[in-house]
Amino acid sequence: MSAPHLTPVETKMPDLEGLLLVQKKAALADPMPDRATRIRRLDKLHNAVVDNRARIIAACNKDFSSRAAAETQLAEIGPILEGIAYYRKRLKKFMKPQRRHAPMTTMPARVEVHYQPVGVVGIVVPWNFPFFLGLSPLVGAIAAGNRAMIKTSEFAPASGELMKSLLSEAFGEDEVAVVTGGVDVATEFTKLPFDHLVFTGSTQVGKIVMRAAAENLTPVTLELGGKSPAIIHPDYPLDEAASRIGFGKGFNAGQICVSPDYVLCPRDKVNAFATQFADTMSKAYPAVRDNADFTAIITDRQKQRLEGYLKDAEEKGAEIIRINPKNEDFSGTRKMPLTIVLGATDDMLVMQEEIFGPILPVIPYDTMDDAIAYVHARPRPLALYYFDWDKARGDDILAKTHSGGVCINDTVMHVGVDDIPFGGIGPSGMGHYHGEEGFRTFSKAKGVLRKGKINATAFVAPPWGNASFKGLM
Ligand code: NAD
Repeated sequence: MSAPHLTPVETKMPDLEGLLLVQKKAALADPMPDRATRIRRLDKLHNAVVDNRARIIAACNKDFSSRAAAETQLAEIGPILEGIAYYRKRLKKFMKPQRRHAPMTTMPARVEVHYQPVGVVGIVVPWNFPFFLGLSPLVGAIAAGNRAMIKTSEFAPASGELMKSLLSEAFGEDEVAVVTGGVDVATEFTKLPFDHLVFTGSTQVGKIVMRAAAENLTPVTLELGGKSPAIIHPDYPLDEAASRIGFGKGFNAGQICVSPDYVLCPRDKVNAFATQFADTMSKAYPAVRDNADFTAIITDRQKQRLEGYLKDAEEKGAEIIRINPKNEDFSGTRKMPLTIVLGATDDMLVMQEEIFGPILPVIPYDTMDDAIAYVHARPRPLALYYFDWDKARGDDILAKTHSGGVCINDTVMHVGVDDIPFGGIGPSGMGHYHGEEGFRTFSKAKGVLRKGKINATAFVAPPWGNASFKGLM
């Protein structure tokens, strides 16, 4: 094993309440920032990211001990900049009050919905995409006119420190503030009376965070985890399935909330799929140990957790296929090869817990109804992947299953689409960010009724006598 992955020890608790007070005061002083102010803030964030691409790549590489530079570009830097461009372009439309229908009883009147900044948004970040999962919610929060405080992950300390330094150069602490620290800081952070709290992390910690937020009646957006299935239709070519599923499993070594967790494969194709998957992924990653394209596991503890799943599955009778084309030894590193598990059953840890690593169980099914029933029998996942060229059958799966999001004939890529909401359902989360839904998440939709000089309400007021409201309702 490598040297223990040290987590930073916060020497003292940051003055969280003081920071929140500064931001709340600033929000009161400028409660409805105009479009130009919001764009200025988005541009400051854009420049902080663009001017520090190399440092962001280096920080992620340091935290993971080896993180593919292309992955940091594709999954951290690129989508943050695209999210900024998305809101920059649509702010005018999203900020505009909407005219709504006025019922007869209120006439003459004008009815509107105003989207008002909520105030101060708290953002709690996990380690797996330490920039994207902090800055992507921040983009939505700023676009909607809010101030924000970010708590970074203790397991990505280099990224956390860099984010703190970049954002403190770009923003006053009354606009955006970053705090680092461990669970003690996170616990106090989530107890603050934010106007909205976005938590990205495990389902288990999500429950603790929601309980803390409930004390303040702070609304939460919970971006959690889970086991996202990939279903292959019997007609689907296995080489296509292998490369598309392999992309989502190999990227960041499977440490993605929407990584395909397991595959549901027609029973007679399980062995052929496993062979194809091993072949395809050996070409994508001809070596693993010193291959800079293949990201390492974030900590020794996480690697032990994943190795523990394999040991448990093997002891209970599963077949373990390590995709290790060069027969490398991984001891002393946090690298771990892509590994297929055949014969996985419900009593194995690998089918009970979110894998969040480069392990792929392949589960046989006999009929599509069986495959759907398998998904229904488990908690609602964050993503669902379906592989089939037939659109009608794809629509059928969409109608019959629940999940946070879906990719048909691909994996993971829907998260990068700015114009659709991102968020889970049930144990995989609640609420959304990205897209118009994200802007609305960080806004109070305030219903407004405006009346003029004519007081028609007098006609629907006491004394009632024998009033009849026929025609009105
Ligand atoms: P985690 O839940 O352990 O930690 C996430 C954050 O919560 C960290 O900043 C941590 O400091 C903080 N935290 C830890 N204990 C806390 C407590 N008691 N009270 C308040 N805050 C606390 O998750 P992780 O290991 O960093 O990330 C992996 C998990 O995140 C996986 O389950 C994954 O699926 C999920 N995830 C979800 C998404 C999504 O968008 N849905 C994205 C990435 C990761």
